[in-house]
Amino acid sequence: MRVPGARPDIAIVGAGPVGATLALALARAGNDLDIVAIDPRAPGEAGRADRSLALSHGARLIFERLGVWSRVAGIEGAVTPIVAIDVSQARGFGAARLDAREVGLPALGYVVSYRALSAALDDALAATAVELCYGTEVSRVEGAADFAALELAGPAAGSIEARLAVVADGVGAAVTGVTRRRRDYGQVALIATLALATPHRGVAYERFTVDGPVALLPERDHYALVWTQSPAEAERSKALSESEFLDALARHFGPRVDRFAGVGARRSFPLALDVAAATTSRRVVVIGNAAQSLHPIAGQGFNLGLRDAWELARTIERTPKSEVGGDAMLAAYRRSRRVDRNAGILFTDGLVRLFGSGVPFASAARGAGLALLDLVAPARRMFTRAMLFGLH
Ligand SMILES: Cc1cc2nc3c(=O)[nH]c(=O)nc-3n(C[C@H](O)[C@H](O)[C@H](O)COP(=O)(O)OP(=O)(O)OC[C@H]3O[C@@H](n4cnc5c(N)ncnc54)[C@H](O)[C@@H]3O)c2cc1C
Repeated sequence: MRVPGARPDIAIVGAGPVGATLALALARAGNDLDIVAIDPRAPGEAGRADRSLALSHGARLIFERLGVWSRVAGIEGAVTPIVAIDVSQARGFGAARLDAREVGLPALGYVVSYRALSAALDDALAATAVELCYGTEVSRVEGAADFAALELAGPAAGSIEARLAVVADGVGAAVTGVTRRRRDYGQVALIATLALATPHRGVAYERFTVDGPVALLPERDHYALVWTQSPAEAERSKALSESEFLDALARHFGPRVDRFAGVGARRSFPLALDVAAATTSRRVVVIGNAAQSLHPIAGQGFNLGLRDAWELARTIERTPKSEVGGDAMLAAYRRSRRVDRNAGILFTDGLVRLFGSGVPFASAARGAGLALLDLVAPARRMFTRAMLFGLH
């Protein structure tokens, strides 16, 4: 374990999927950098173990390059390909189906177990020179001219300094000097698993309603449901019996999907747009969910965070060791992420606003948009590519 007072080149705060990906990408780059990754969890233990992540095809390519994809795909039931996405809106015309065959790929994306991905990243990292400080929480990160200071809590309590601190703790809580903007959507995501009456065949559903979007993601032998509701509705939904809940869902979704055979435990979490106003400050950079936490509507959040890690690794790789964490390197990183990051945030927030509006004209415009997507192959391919690889 890192001795308090030590000075690594790079300290990564949080070895979740984004922080661990960065650590691995840096280790593979072979820049001879002294890297430490710090996380309060135990090795092989994932804090968000019950969660699944929606990965784009571009995310798969990143994991392939890092040699992690085959490890995850080798874990039974860890990866479910999404071969088509059916997009529709309630009480309006217009629907579109995005199909993997149309863009010449085996899948549009993948639903991947957080636990399995985390375990595969941990395994891969254990074979590198990155020093892993598990069981240790970072309580404060503060940048200065020549280094960032990190306060550690837990068994290795004390402080360390690094040329660059990368905050990938999922929330950006410990860092000073990075201001955040938060907008509560006033809604919650109700999540549950749905047992199937008929196989899902890799088809995901996204349905836009005036109350917010509802999504079904194929996962192993069931669907994962993400249903946007008001907090009060979500409480009522959680209290319904199984058959009442399935009836309500069938009414909400309409005839586009078959009925379900059962529903598992129902939970909800609040929905908000929570972004760092700037992703860097002196000797500090925030990435992943710590940089931007988005509405799950378009499945962009994790993919954007992963591209943060990938681009940061590439920027560091191109920077002489003595200049890592300096203003020029941080500016180069910001430039590399500006378009993709802003587009991802605006696209996701725009969808929430466009499809969350009950105004009749907006409904017609959405219907026209969806009908257009369904009719015009180039438009559909463009939209699909943006969902697959990002919007840069
Ligand atoms: C409730 C909820 C449900 C979600 N559901 C989905 C979903 O169904 N599909 C999907 O694609 N995305 C989902 N997301 C988004 C997805 O979880 C994130 O995009 C993804 O986890 C981001 O990865 P990350 O590594 O940036 O952060 P995280 O996964 O949050 O990882 C952060 C890591 O930092 C560590 N850490 C925390 N605090 C500290 C500290 N003080 N010091 C050091 N380390 C620390 C944690 O232990 C953890 O290992 C959901 C998000 C939330 C909040």
